Amino acid sequence: MSFLEYAPAPESKAILNLRDSYGLFIDGEFVDGSGKSFTTISPADESHIAEIAGASDDDIDRAVTAARRAYDKVWSKMSGRDRGKYLFRIARLVQERARELAVAESLDNGKPIKESRDVDVPLVASWFFYYAGWADKLDYAGLGANPRAHGVAGQIIPWNFPLLMLAWKIAPALAAGNTVVLKPAETTPLTALIFAEILQQADLPAGVVNIVTGAGATGATLVRHPEVDKVAFTGSTGVGRDIAKAVAGTNKKVTLELGGKAANIVFDDAPIDQAVEGIVNGIFFNQGHVCCAGSRLLVQESIHDEVIDRLKTRLSTLRLGNPLDKNTDIGAINSAAQLARIRELSDIGEAEGAERWTADCAIPDKGFWFAPTIFTGVEASHRIARDEVFGPVLSVLTFRTPAEAIAKANNTPYGLSAGIWTDKGSRILAVADRLRAGVVWANTFNRFDPASPFGGYKESGYGREGGRHGLTAYLKGAAA
Ligand code: ADP
Repeated sequence: MSFLEYAPAPESKAILNLRDSYGLFIDGEFVDGSGKSFTTISPADESHIAEIAGASDDDIDRAVTAARRAYDKVWSKMSGRDRGKYLFRIARLVQERARELAVAESLDNGKPIKESRDVDVPLVASWFFYYAGWADKLDYAGLGANPRAHGVAGQIIPWNFPLLMLAWKIAPALAAGNTVVLKPAETTPLTALIFAEILQQADLPAGVVNIVTGAGATGATLVRHPEVDKVAFTGSTGVGRDIAKAVAGTNKKVTLELGGKAANIVFDDAPIDQAVEGIVNGIFFNQGHVCCAGSRLLVQESIHDEVIDRLKTRLSTLRLGNPLDKNTDIGAINSAAQLARIRELSDIGEAEGAERWTADCAIPDKGFWFAPTIFTGVEASHRIARDEVFGPVLSVLTFRTPAEAIAKANNTPYGLSAGIWTDKGSRILAVADRLRAGVVWANTFNRFDPASPFGGYKESGYGREGGRHGLTAYLKGAAA
């Protein structure tokens, strides 16, 4: 028994108003799909949530045609001010239905309710509020003489932040005047479908946003559709590569936000307790299903043992279990397939000679779970130092000098994010300047704000989302 025992504090599911089955959202209506339907389950106990329509090639064509028609007839003719009003309305409705969205997200994804309630859903609303404010200012923001939308955007999102990734995609696209066909991930379609209900509530003109559900093949069809002018993708580097190939030689514009293997660098002058909190937040937030997760801890050799000791003590206090319990810190792994991948890479880490430590916590009988795990003695050549695990697994490496820290941090095919922990502002600036990563956090980690651009170097993809930069991807001829 641990020092502090908590009574269960489950969030009620009574606020949900789920249907038994969901169709595709095309041209403002839920319609039947003609592809193979599938079930979405709760990864915490493998229970059935709802039956989800599968979109066939014909369905994708219907959705893209609806988006094109809405673009030509309505959305491209509407003033930025009026587009902004719709975005403000959507943002307010997200706030009104925030609790319902948070419960649905935790149920379908497995993430702790305190994260979906306090991080995901508030950020979703803030993304719509932020881009609502841009919609009538495009002409005055240095985005070119007459910034114009591309037309129809085909958007494909992953399962780790289902509703937040939807907001990152849809809010700037609509603010810039594009219409949208979006495909959520097959394991987490629920909140995108509730969002479709919100669009109906907001009276968004039919066809401006269409939501098509299905697996990878559905995404591949959407990317290839000749009437899709702009493709935006967040997901794995492998699929990103396929998408880049599929659009090569066409006029389609593409942005890709792919994997990462971020270095979180702790210098010997860092405030250690804060750094330990930052390390925990960096890799154990959202079960490590975070593309910008601080999955490689680079710790200065002289403080290695102290940091690792305190980290283990801290990890032993984390509570793993029911995602809907308000006390839960670590929720379920999103799918059996992802759990298998985490297990495989962790076994490889052990076989390669790194030392494995796992927090001692009870694992529920049903569902997909992986206890917080640390590997020490990791070398830069190990697979657990190079491959994205996308799970609650931290690889620890050491360094002696700032130059060595920078060289090790940059020794990765990825370049999405990084973290620096030190007492000295000058060191933060000097090190940040030399890190090849799209986002560098200093004395914090995993902070998101709609005004701040996010994106990668190298195999982490190209293009930026968020901020004014995020608009340029949805406008013709606009330079970041
Ligand atoms: P992960 O490895 O994080 O599951 P994926 O890259 O496989 O990420 O999936 C991210 C999204 O891309 C999902 O919505 C998935 O259905 C979709 N997807 C998978 N394969 C393809 C493909 N070949 N073309 C387009 N989209 C795809």
